[in-house]
Amino acid sequence: MRTHVPETTPFHWEGVPVLPYKEQGTHFRAVSRQVLLDDPDVLGTQVRYFEIAPGGWSSLERHDHPHSVMIVRGRGECLVGREIHGLGERDLVFVPPGTWHQFRANRDETLGFLCLVPCERDAPVRPDHAELEALRSDPRVAAFVRV
Ligand code: MN
Repeated sequence: MRTHVPETTPFHWEGVPVLPYKEQGTHFRAVSRQVLLDDPDVLGTQVRYFEIAPGGWSSLERHDHPHSVMIVRGRGECLVGREIHGLGERDLVFVPPGTWHQFRANRDETLGFLCLVPCERDAPVRPDHAELEALRSDPRVAAFVRV
């Protein structure tokens, strides 16, 4: 396995392709994905770098596995549960299992973050109509979410 993955240009790493955030869908905007570590024998953890261009957002979703996130580029905001947090470089975000979450690059800057997940994990689900209505019962959440 590789033991050193140098950065080549800012926020790009040697031999690491820039991938679409997800294979398909219209429930996100302007997000890319780079997989920096994906080896079940190393901590059982996958390390991804996501980058959201200004004005973009990740999908509003939840799943049984948690996320551990560190912001490494720019600023933005995220929803975790019903809380909205302002984000800056080197902030940490923890998304507990089963918790709705969404990241937005809504401060006129690129938002880049490392996200750790278990290699073996369940697939994300998006809110159905009733769940979305329940989330939107909070006006601050309603103003934040993009679907
Ligand atoms: Mn997620």
